[in-house]
Amino acid sequence: MSYFETLGLAEPLLRALKAKDYSEPTPIQRQAIPALLEGRDLLGIAQTGTGKTAAFSLPSLHRLAANPVGRHPASCRMLVLSPTRELAAQIAENMRAYAKFLDLSVQCIFGGVPASKQAKKLVQGCDILVATPGRLLDLCDQRALTLRNVEIFVLDEADQMMDLGFIKPLTRIANMLPDKRQSLFFSATMPKAIADLGKRFIKDPVRVEVAPQSTTAERVEQYSTFIDQKEKQALLTLSLKKGLESGEIERSLVFTRTKHGADRVVRHLVAAGINAAAIHGNKSQAQRTRALDGFRDNRVPVLVATDIAARGIDVPGVSAVFNFELPNVAEQYVHRIGRTARAGRNGMAISYVAPDEKPYLRDIEKLTGVRLTAVPIPENFVTQAAALPAAARHPSGAERAEGDRPRTRRGNGGGNGSGRRKPQASARPAGNGGGQRNRRPRAGA
Ligand code: AMP
Repeated sequence: MSYFETLGLAEPLLRALKAKDYSEPTPIQRQAIPALLEGRDLLGIAQTGTGKTAAFSLPSLHRLAANPVGRHPASCRMLVLSPTRELAAQIAENMRAYAKFLDLSVQCIFGGVPASKQAKKLVQGCDILVATPGRLLDLCDQRALTLRNVEIFVLDEADQMMDLGFIKPLTRIANMLPDKRQSLFFSATMPKAIADLGKRFIKDPVRVEVAPQSTTAERVEQYSTFIDQKEKQALLTLSLKKGLESGEIERSLVFTRTKHGADRVVRHLVAAGINAAAIHGNKSQAQRTRALDGFRDNRVPVLVATDIAARGIDVPGVSAVFNFELPNVAEQYVHRIGRTARAGRNGMAISYVAPDEKPYLRDIEKLTGVRLTAVPIPENFVTQAAALPAAARHPSGAERAEGDRPRTRRGNGGGNGSGRRKPQASARPAGNGGGQRNRRPRAGA
């Protein structure tokens, strides 16, 4: 008898789990499912990648199926709030798979696509609605949706909701929910402000924590390379070329601080013959979906993202995360590197640290308690960089003038202003050849 069977989950759910090949629960599932089946509220401290979606979906679907009620027009029985469109779509897709053998409908609504189409989907009502807060309120304001019949409410990624300034929409949504409901509140971190927010939603919750707060994913090997901002592009291009050609990197996520920065990195990678796409808030929903689909099915091995767009995205087999720029909020580093080493795999994270980013590195190391292994720039970097096509090497003057990185005179970083530093000897992660002094990172498979 599997663990899921011992919990008494409905047979159609067990069948769906079999189809997904889940035999054992993840720790958060083991901790959360029994309490949720009893109808308790839950406060969960967990990052994505821990199996959190199934942890809240399985017991909820079980309870909804056990108590069938007719569908009310323009309403839902379970509401899941997610901060980003991509995460909402991912949760809905997972829930559809878990509900595959049940007579429960799942709808998903988010901004960036016409509201009228989504309103149409809601006319007949649905059982489960996954939504981003802004679009949810739009549809409520248009009377295309009521939250009056919500029995189960899930607030996912609460800390990112706060970061994105969703506090007012969340308060409005909370006021529209019926008092009698089951509430689940998830956050990757639980500073006091988030805990206070939680108190508005949950009553006497069971508390579930699967990884100590701000603990860095254990299976991620973490490296830093000190490098001037203007050299970063060439180093990234060379590292990706080498890693992808050798098979050491299967798929890679590159994080930039700004949307323009993400586009710029993509242009340089493409000029060097590396298939890459950008995903950030200035892209249309169609572009974001295309980029993510291409990344998921391996047509595009490199996705360049800003933090907001990438949060929560579950793509197996991301073998390397590059921090082209360090995040200025240390917690964000934990989220970024959590994109690799998922589902039992290993992964590596490589951070490029310009001189003016050293304070961010210190914050990250303090928060995670992990000292990043410093890897020098490879010996042959200058020669190899010079051999790259000019467009692939470093930002052109015109692009530098875009000025979306205000930290230096040149608008594209550039560090200590002392001019071009000659790269130092030795190698770096992702295999730039001999002379590597540090532990060599393993491939992500
Ligand atoms: P999540 O944290 O919900 O984004 O889940 C992370 C990944 O783990 C997803 O790809 C899930 O399909 C997978 N997963 C969740 N639960 C299990 C399980 N019990 N066994 C195997 N894989 C799982």
